[in-house]
Amino acid sequence: MSEHCLICDQVLNESLTWTTLLFPQEKSPLCEKCEEKFQWIQGDICEVCGREMEGVEEQYRQGERCLDCVKWEENSDWGRIFRQNRSLYVYNDWMKEVIALYKFRGDYQLADIFRRKWQKAYRIYYPQYEVIVPIPLSEERLYERGFNQSAVLAGLLQKPVQDLMARHHHEKQSKKTKKERLKKEQVFFLKEDADLHGKKVLLIDDIYTTGTTLHHAAKVLKEAGAEVVSSLTLARG
Ligand SMILES: [Zn+2]
Ligand SMILES: [Zn+2]
Repeated sequence: MSEHCLICDQVLNESLTWTTLLFPQEKSPLCEKCEEKFQWIQGDICEVCGREMEGVEEQYRQGERCLDCVKWEENSDWGRIFRQNRSLYVYNDWMKEVIALYKFRGDYQLADIFRRKWQKAYRIYYPQYEVIVPIPLSEERLYERGFNQSAVLAGLLQKPVQDLMARHHHEKQSKKTKKERLKKEQVFFLKEDADLHGKKVLLIDDIYTTGTTLHHAAKVLKEAGAEVVSSLTLARG
């Protein structure tokens, strides 16, 4: 029986379905055309947020860090809250399409595209992180969508997943800009008491864009005693 590409459904040609660079041993569930549109994050990365440093101009970096991360660090409310993010892919147009397909088609199977590489990234970057926490969706979103894509990604790691957090429900506050609101308000809270003292906590999300979501989540976990909070995400926007 021939296998089909998980994205475009093309019949897979055996000889062409091996990812060559980072994972030479692993057979891809994708055809070559789909596979090659993914852009791996490689080479120099920002040591904090994991973005590719190639192409980031000198004025937007400081040593091994990008300026966004320097700004987070220098902010008295946010410095030392969040250790680091690592992402597998650049959030390019193709990645946008794939994540949209995955989220909105509600296609769990699509998570299979990433399974092996995702598990490997966890083993490489975060072997000591035992507490795995997915970024929650709001209840409305969860209802609309039927599943939380971050929880599915967390589940792929085959480690115990602790769904510790929920999102506050905020009324629309038209007077404040979105940025102001995010700065001032708590986005997440712990659903249950959790003692995270001395624990290394790994947050799971699909995309790291501005870092705001992950910083907010990290803050809640640090307040519950977490020693270190980092994240693993599919794509760096
Ligand atoms: Zn394909
Ligand atoms: Zn950075």
